[in-house]
Amino acid sequence: MSNFDPIPVSIKQQLMTELCEQIDDAIFILDGNLRYLTVNASYELLIGYKESFLVGRPLGIYAAEFLSEEEQLILKDIKNNLSEKGFHELDFSMANRYGQMIECHVTYRKISVEGVVYHVGMLRDMSSVVKDQKQVAHLLNYDQLTGLPNRKVFLSQTSDILLDTYQEVVIVRLNIDRYRNLANLLGPDGINSLITSFVERIKQLELAHLRCLSHFGGDDFALLFECKDGNMVRHQLDTLMQMCELPFPMNDSATTDANIYCHVSAGVSYFPKNDGQVTGLLTKAEKALQYVKQHGGDDIRWYDKTIEEATAGSLQLEAELRVATTDGQFVPYYQPKFSLDTGAITGFEALVRWQHPTRGLLKPIHFIDAILTHKLSFELFSQMANQIAKQLSEWQQQGFCQHICINADAAEFSHPDFFDMVSGLLVQHNIAACQLHIEVTESSLIQRHDNVRQQLNSLKELGVCLALDDFGTGYASLSYLQEYPFDFIKVDKSFISNIETDRTQHAIVKAILDLAVALDMQVVAEGIETEQQRDVLLDMGCKQGQGYWFSKPIPADVATEMLLKQYTTE
Ligand code: C2E
Ligand code: MG
Ligand code: MG
Repeated sequence: MSNFDPIPVSIKQQLMTELCEQIDDAIFILDGNLRYLTVNASYELLIGYKESFLVGRPLGIYAAEFLSEEEQLILKDIKNNLSEKGFHELDFSMANRYGQMIECHVTYRKISVEGVVYHVGMLRDMSSVVKDQKQVAHLLNYDQLTGLPNRKVFLSQTSDILLDTYQEVVIVRLNIDRYRNLANLLGPDGINSLITSFVERIKQLELAHLRCLSHFGGDDFALLFECKDGNMVRHQLDTLMQMCELPFPMNDSATTDANIYCHVSAGVSYFPKNDGQVTGLLTKAEKALQYVKQHGGDDIRWYDKTIEEATAGSLQLEAELRVATTDGQFVPYYQPKFSLDTGAITGFEALVRWQHPTRGLLKPIHFIDAILTHKLSFELFSQMANQIAKQLSEWQQQGFCQHICINADAAEFSHPDFFDMVSGLLVQHNIAACQLHIEVTESSLIQRHDNVRQQLNSLKELGVCLALDDFGTGYASLSYLQEYPFDFIKVDKSFISNIETDRTQHAIVKAILDLAVALDMQVVAEGIETEQQRDVLLDMGCKQGQGYWFSKPIPADVATEMLLKQYTTE
């Protein structure tokens, strides 16, 4: 310490002045009446006014002639605190000379020098920190695509409302049906634009009593209503469902027609009837939503006790289906296909029936969705294919060469053993490949998996005939005809039901028949229920059909009798 020289006061003052000039924080000195005496360079830069302009002016008044009421209150606070405590600190946003908003943190200190009062202010620009904080808060609380509040915000708003409401509170959970299929069809940009348009439509409805519209992500939405009577929301929800069903125009090359049609499923619960807590209400709305989805979607369901029972039922169904796949409880019924002209049987469609141990013979409507949900499609297919192959070989030995058509979902093609199993069965039972037809529904092709295409091509090379089922009911019927090697188009029964009188149905079927001729494909009309329908179709040039007018689906022995009868009458 011996050779340490303290700096002289004048040097220290010069250094401090220099530091004040160069520091990033904006510094300003005011007199006892809060008028500017001097400011540093950072202050000039931030505020946008030169020192020469500011000197003598009262704090806060630059270009404007007067202060707003809010600014006057702030100023009063500053004055009071400085005179009482000699210190004041505040955060606020202000516009600089160029109209830019600056988030400031300001401290004021009262300093007396030689008996004169000064106020020294230091202003720090917090804009970037505040912006970051706001961004993080936005990311944490809002969905980035739609800008709607997320699940967290929804839950907190709901519990706030539940705390002090004197009305009923309704929670709606809303999903878009077959969202994954739509996402695969439209691609990432297309599905995002669909979701954005969807949200815009809900907003435009300006639903009464709506307190929060929330986006939980993907196709998952929630709405919160508060009103005197929960039932008042029923009408609003009906309107919402209707507006969802209007077409959404899409400019996407993946879809041949430019419109996308959406359906939604909704589950509803309400306070105080269903629950008093936010989590309980949400769970119940979600159970109601699951219920709707398990029953095909496109519906609204208000929570009640029967939903709990149904959920337990669906768990039991899964367990029973697993037993059915191992115990061989699935049997094919055969619906004959006829030549519309000669009335001769041309082949059969195999339709699964479940020989349930206690409930009797069940149709696919009771279990086919559950088969898909629980990923048992391949097990069902192999059980059906084995029985069908045996049947073909038996009929062959009796001299019948009709084909059998088996229904398959694209999920079944994805199975790695699919092709080997089909080709193995043909060899094992000595069946010509062309006697086996496979029908694929349009709705199952929507995912456009490459391996579905490969499997269909391999089957086609093997000689198996392929049919596109329920033609006209999916999203992109025409593009499937281009993409996959189909031999048959099966016209959905919804186009046949009124073909005798409905000009639109007539025109659609005519167009399909013309298209099939151009593409060298054959057409089978489904769901022929009357002689007139058969006659109209025959007149139009349709050669094959099936339906209750000819025969319902029948067990194998009855189908054999039918074949025998046909041969004896020929
Ligand atoms: P699909 O393949 O379009 O089969 C035609 C459905 O229409 C059958 O119903 C049939 O009984 C019914 N049908 C036939 N003719 C008429 C008619 O004239 N009028 C009316 N209203 N209906 C008629 P089913 O047997 O209940 O089968 C329903 C659907 O279940 C089938 O539709 C098919 O998509 C699916 N399915 C059936 N068996 C299987 C299977 O083994 N595997 C898979 N993955 N799906 C199957
Ligand atoms: Mg079919
Ligand atoms: Mg069909």
